[in-house]
Amino acid sequence: MADIRTRFAPSPTGYMHVGSVRTALFAWLIARQANGEFILRIEDTDKAREVEGSIKHIMDSLIFLGINWDEGPDIGGQFEPYIQSEKLETYKQWAQTLVDSGRAYPDPYSQEELNNLREKAKNEKRPFLFRDHRPEKFETWDGKATLRFKSDPKPYTWHDEVMGKLSTGPEVIDDFIIMKNDGYPTYNFCHIIDDYLMDISHIVRSQEFISSTPKFLNLYEALEFDHPKFVTLPPVMGADGKKKLSKRDGSKDILDYKKEGYDPRALMNFLATLGWNDGTTKEIFSKEELIEKFDIKRINKSGAKFDEQRLIWLNGQYIRSMDIDELYEKVTNFWPNSAKEYDTAYKKAVLGLVQERIKFYKELPELTIFFFEEADPELNMIKDNKFLKAMNNSEIKELLDATIFSLKDSDFSIDDLNHRLNKLLESTSKKPAELFSLIRITTTWATASPPLVESLAVLGKENTLSRINKLIDIISK
Ligand code: GLU
Repeated sequence: MADIRTRFAPSPTGYMHVGSVRTALFAWLIARQANGEFILRIEDTDKAREVEGSIKHIMDSLIFLGINWDEGPDIGGQFEPYIQSEKLETYKQWAQTLVDSGRAYPDPYSQEELNNLREKAKNEKRPFLFRDHRPEKFETWDGKATLRFKSDPKPYTWHDEVMGKLSTGPEVIDDFIIMKNDGYPTYNFCHIIDDYLMDISHIVRSQEFISSTPKFLNLYEALEFDHPKFVTLPPVMGADGKKKLSKRDGSKDILDYKKEGYDPRALMNFLATLGWNDGTTKEIFSKEELIEKFDIKRINKSGAKFDEQRLIWLNGQYIRSMDIDELYEKVTNFWPNSAKEYDTAYKKAVLGLVQERIKFYKELPELTIFFFEEADPELNMIKDNKFLKAMNNSEIKELLDATIFSLKDSDFSIDDLNHRLNKLLESTSKKPAELFSLIRITTTWATASPPLVESLAVLGKENTLSRINKLIDIISK
């Protein structure tokens, strides 16, 4: 078995957002870097919070990003099962050992009694601690009743690989529930058992668990377990850097990025640099470079800003760096339907024209539709255009007639088109913005399009001339 074994231990309570995937990625990088092992474990002991389909969704998200696991629910491994609900008996046995050593006891209170005790403490303005009401004598555990840990309150100082030295006093340690009366263990208990049984070397997780760590330390001691190293990641903050990332700031399902056509390499690169850098200004890291350069010592303590514009920029870098054949493969599922009729060479030529500006693949139809379909002319686009609005219909018709006359004998090579359009500028004494806007709008009816001459060359003579003639017909009526 490898020395370094990390795990990602999600609860199947919904989709995977940026923060949870970032946790998985850091745990994975730590394992891969050390030739260690990365384990996927599903923590599904809170049945009320479970969302159907989450386990598959979690796995699909990891697979999309290229985060692979060495042991897990689908592939098994030396410590299977890797789904906590499938090993309730194991937790029960460990709970029993705590009962036997006098470190766990059945909770004697009903919910109502407990609420009253809490209420009383609140009224007396003192913190409620269960251990103040611990029964003198423990009843025997029937294996079903709620079971509490008998804590041994004391101050703790511990080392976190990211946060450094952390300390707390005894007041934060209380008798917490380890087994619920539905037969399921609590997270606080069973993750400790599993990390021990699965020989986990590093626990990589978010800051919300720091406040519970003293309780965990107390429990490790009672169980006589050495604890793994703690690697606490900084929170992912919204773009303003002040609040934790929320749905409103764009914390969405990782698989939505797949649907929108982000390159998983760009996403991995982006996530890896959310709270980590290599100490230089380098921003683009391949998977191999990340594995080589990642360093726990360079994980930031303070919150990492989630800047979607940066992700878009990074994604663009990956798109621009591909050769056209590779890009063509990647965009297979993103073409507009009408592109089906067209051959590969044509589509690659179209793709070449948008490669410089496309941000993610879902933009492909909008950016390219006019190469595949002739749109209905929207005359307002001419009326609203700042270079064209001063022209009346007969001026427009004259200009379009002249364009037809000039282009009808062109071979539609880029050189020839450039040559003819420049001559047309001279003979009509129009400004480039006027003439070229008119031709661009007439042939695309789109608000933005790639450079005109290159677009016409791809569109071809027949399409170009017929689109121009169509407008001539309309405005001649
Ligand atoms: N099941 C916990 C969660 O989803 C995992 C925390 C941990 O990594 O220990 O938040």
